[in-house]
Amino acid sequence: MVRSKVILLTSLLLGFQLSTTNSGFSQMEDSTAYKWYKGNTHTHTTNSDGDSSPEVVTKWYRDHGYNFLVISDHDTLTEVDDLNKTFGKAGEFILITGSEVTDYLESEKKAIHVNSLNPTKNVLPQGGENPVEMLQNNIDAIREASAIPQINHPNHRWSLTANDLKQTQNCVLFEVHSGHPIVNNLSGGGFPGVEEMWDDILSSGKLIYGMGADDAHKFIDPWDKSGARPGQAWVVVRALELTPTAIVNALEHGNFYASTGVELIDYQVDDKGITIDINAGKRAKYRTLFIGKYGKVYKEAIANPATYEFQGGEMYIRAKIIDSNGCMAWTQPIMLENK
Ligand SMILES: [Zn+2]
Ligand SMILES: [Zn+2]
Repeated sequence: MVRSKVILLTSLLLGFQLSTTNSGFSQMEDSTAYKWYKGNTHTHTTNSDGDSSPEVVTKWYRDHGYNFLVISDHDTLTEVDDLNKTFGKAGEFILITGSEVTDYLESEKKAIHVNSLNPTKNVLPQGGENPVEMLQNNIDAIREASAIPQINHPNHRWSLTANDLKQTQNCVLFEVHSGHPIVNNLSGGGFPGVEEMWDDILSSGKLIYGMGADDAHKFIDPWDKSGARPGQAWVVVRALELTPTAIVNALEHGNFYASTGVELIDYQVDDKGITIDINAGKRAKYRTLFIGKYGKVYKEAIANPATYEFQGGEMYIRAKIIDSNGCMAWTQPIMLENK
């Protein structure tokens, strides 16, 4: 199943050869060598507040079609070498070292959480006087550990605003959709949802990529709604090989899409526009929104493949694909100002 999907998705790469996007696709020399790998970068075990051991958690992801997993226990590096020996298989499944740097600004009742992906050492919360300072301190410490930072669930406790994220340096990844049930992916009470925040940030000229992740804690009781369950949201990453370095570098360059269930067969960008071929294998119907500056929907496509022709003035274009059962996928923004 996994293998056939990877082969299928390699067709995605052909279109990138002509691309002039911000994501470095034009640099590709042999695009057919790239493959697509499904993974989750945010999961907890009994090494922090998860309900299952690292072995049980790893087995769940391996057995459910994932190609990589980051175990991100709070302020703890869960050892993955032995897990990789037991569960890893070259080209099919790997664990990547990681943690969730878990900081709290008690004076404002805010939770600033940043994942550290593929670090050389554990990173402890760095503190700070305000949300921006705390976030930056933790990002800087993660970079010092040679890791890639991922800003988690910004609307958890309404902790981080779009303006906070605009001021942040050296981090291009954030969770646009979390599987956790109480982190406010959507808007409410006058507060914007995370996707609205994304357009706000992009419209300021700052490039940031939207990830999907589980933040899974609950693997045992399927009726337990007190925490996040696995399989809710993920990323599909385009990389040359299935290694920790290749995967996190691809994330950092925006070579991925986020999903809660929509699968793409093909995604092409060239000077003229975007073409997205959706895997419509579940009897669902699809609509694709092509979204630009300030969140404006420049086109709603109901055809599959969904196509968009650049008009000029959009500033950026990103696509959101929604199926008739509520599943979604988000492609990364193509910044058009640089064309
Ligand atoms: Zn968190
Ligand atoms: Zn978490």
